[in-house]
Amino acid sequence: MRDLPKHQGKRRQLVCLLKEKGITSTAVLDAINTVPRHLFLESSFEDFAYQDKAFPIAADQTISQPYTVAFQTELLELEPGEKVLEIGTGSGYQTAVLCELGAKVYSIERQHELFKKTKSFLSRYGYRPKYLTFGDGYLGLPKHAPFDKIIVTAGAPVVPKALLSQLAVGGRMVIPVGEEVQVMTLYVRTSTSSFDRQELGEFRFVPLLEDKN
Ligand code: SAH
Repeated sequence: MRDLPKHQGKRRQLVCLLKEKGITSTAVLDAINTVPRHLFLESSFEDFAYQDKAFPIAADQTISQPYTVAFQTELLELEPGEKVLEIGTGSGYQTAVLCELGAKVYSIERQHELFKKTKSFLSRYGYRPKYLTFGDGYLGLPKHAPFDKIIVTAGAPVVPKALLSQLAVGGRMVIPVGEEVQVMTLYVRTSTSSFDRQELGEFRFVPLLEDKN
């Protein structure tokens, strides 16, 4: 599959919709306008790729809805060159959006099949995350910490302490917390021992599962 004018047109429409839904960051909207989401899906979904919906990918997982990707990314307030840890590489779409914003991206996926597939896919399409790894996101990546930003793209029944501890002072972590339904939660680390916490509405994600598979 290639990126054709018809895809680019649909992407521009998606960006308009995301603006109507309240996304304001030009950098985030530009990144969504640039990343060819249809390439991250099976070809049978090509015609639907620019609908604002989640879709199935391999290993019973999903690619997040574009609005959710935009909402979480906007909350990160990312500056080029910052170190970002993503939990749940999945299709690599969110990873690509973060790369497009100039972040140094570290991403963890617990499904080996998806990890392998997405790693080769991203490099084939010229995305260069700093580090992709197969592992358990509950543990974060202590060797590469601290991170300026952390984004969790699966529903966490509890907030992993390891992730909070790997956030730099001044850093921001966006994590959907809950079992059936998740509350989007933003943590800002205000000192080595304190965090501000804000709840920002309900979303639905596949679960953050322990251990790797
Ligand atoms: N960011 C992805 C969203 C994928 S859905 C995208 O843009 O496509 C969430 C992903 O989190 C799934 O691929 C799932 O396998 C993964 N996941 C769930 N629990 C995990 C864990 N403990 N560590 C790492 N990845 C996890």
